[in-house]
Amino acid sequence: MNCCENCPRGQLIVISGPSGVGKGTVVSLILETYNGFSRSKSLTTRPRRDRDPNDEKYEFCDRDTFNKRFEEGDILERTEYGGNYYGTIRSELEKGVEEGKNILMEIDVNGALQIKRLYPHAILICLLPDKFSDLITRLRTRGTEDPENMKIRLDEAKKEITYFHEFDYVVVNSSGKAAKAAEEIVGIVHADSLRTARHNEFYKELLDSLNSEGSGCPDANDN
Ligand code: 5GP
Repeated sequence: MNCCENCPRGQLIVISGPSGVGKGTVVSLILETYNGFSRSKSLTTRPRRDRDPNDEKYEFCDRDTFNKRFEEGDILERTEYGGNYYGTIRSELEKGVEEGKNILMEIDVNGALQIKRLYPHAILICLLPDKFSDLITRLRTRGTEDPENMKIRLDEAKKEITYFHEFDYVVVNSSGKAAKAAEEIVGIVHADSLRTARHNEFYKELLDSLNSEGSGCPDANDN
């Protein structure tokens, strides 16, 4: 789903939202169901969890390595979340964009705002639950966090929700309805690809062709 042949670069789609809202599930569903999407890759100092998909979403490292990669310029944006560092790996993202893929970035609010500054055309989507208690239920069911970490994540969630108005779109991920959320996000990406601002090249070529073919118009006085 690229803009058009005049605008072959893919779109950047940032999906943020509180821990436990189901960002990972929705992103995985989009990747499985729709063509033309890929996901950005992050470097993190968080320890690997059993349910982390194999080397798809994260590359794990220690703090020194993270800082070194940042100083070398390979980290596009970064954040500290729950005492761990996370950052988008620049080289992976640029490769996908150049291939014309729509890149889904599953990152926190901090990172979302950094991306918007770097790429004003990025689409910022805020994924929210129906109600706050859904987050608690999902985090409990997931069983990846101890009580202390769960509290940190819920506190972060409260903070993150206050950035609601910084986002371009909001999608609600109701329990058991991840496919609907995925479909809505794909719809947003499609609509955004048709924005006039993304078709300046096309417009310019159309004007040029009008100017060069204008003399071929039938003359009003021909009748
Ligand atoms: P988790 O530990 O649950 O995998 O991720 C914790 C938080 O960090 C989530 O909100 C997740 O979206 C965010 N996150 C993951 N990777 C990145 C990244 O590269 N940059 C930023 N800014 N946030 C990230």
